[in-house]
Amino acid sequence: MKDGPKNVVMTTNLCTAVLTLLCGLLVSTTVAEDRVLRALIIDGQNNHDWQSTTPIMKRALKDSGRFAVDVTTSPAKGQDMSTFRPKFGNYDVVVSNYNGDGWSSAAQKDFVDYVHGGGGSVVVHAADNAFPEWPQYNEMIGLGGWGDRNERAGPYVYIKDGKPIRDESPGPGGSHGAQHEFQIVVQRSDHPVTQGMPRRWMHTKDELYDRLRGPAKNMIILATAFSDPGTRGTGRDEPILWTVDYGEGRVFHTVLGHADYSMCCVGFITSLVRGAEWAATGKVTLPIPEDFPAPDAVSSRK
Ligand code: ZN
Repeated sequence: MKDGPKNVVMTTNLCTAVLTLLCGLLVSTTVAEDRVLRALIIDGQNNHDWQSTTPIMKRALKDSGRFAVDVTTSPAKGQDMSTFRPKFGNYDVVVSNYNGDGWSSAAQKDFVDYVHGGGGSVVVHAADNAFPEWPQYNEMIGLGGWGDRNERAGPYVYIKDGKPIRDESPGPGGSHGAQHEFQIVVQRSDHPVTQGMPRRWMHTKDELYDRLRGPAKNMIILATAFSDPGTRGTGRDEPILWTVDYGEGRVFHTVLGHADYSMCCVGFITSLVRGAEWAATGKVTLPIPEDFPAPDAVSSRK
């Protein structure tokens, strides 16, 4: 009996502790969902003008209000890469605008561990030309091109009659015809990145990548474009936006973004920021903007 009041006090204290803990969890969950996400853009080497395209992506991410953005620039081509070792773990999402010399094995391991362990990754345009000899990177990007990629890299993948085709026929991976404006077709409107997008939208002048090949594991094609033989294309519906699940991590891949004028497309900007948010968190809160392109009309921002 004499232990009774003490037990009540202990129970009360326990309840208070549990409530405090629950409140703390609720608050931290809310903070986690609303907080500014940390993005890192990687550039420094590319067969494209990364000096003009990185600032466009940085601004797009910042202007969304969802991201704080850092940029890390690698040593120039042919320079010592051994000191290039970004601190991926400090970021929610890493955006690659890089296509250049191989990274050190330490930097490669850091990146694989980061994505496999749940980090977000965004692959933009020629970033999928990078690292043909790095198997884990090719798994992360799903499909890539150039760099002597061929049937050993994996199948060609495209959409035919609404279904993904894995085409094992031999041949080089990666090609594109003349730059032009082309229509994007959303294949999956049930994915957070593409949900609410018009089924078709017009993209500004860009390269339409085709004949990409790769392991294509755990890959979901979100959008395609018809690669018109009239512009030296394949006559196929080629993947344009897709996702790859890699371990606990999420990868968003866009083949769009050859040049500054391609990245000023509101469709590019919207898919980049929503793709980055999804890669970072698995969810998308950023809206489809009012000035999103129409099925037959491009829309660009300055
Ligand atoms: Zn290009």
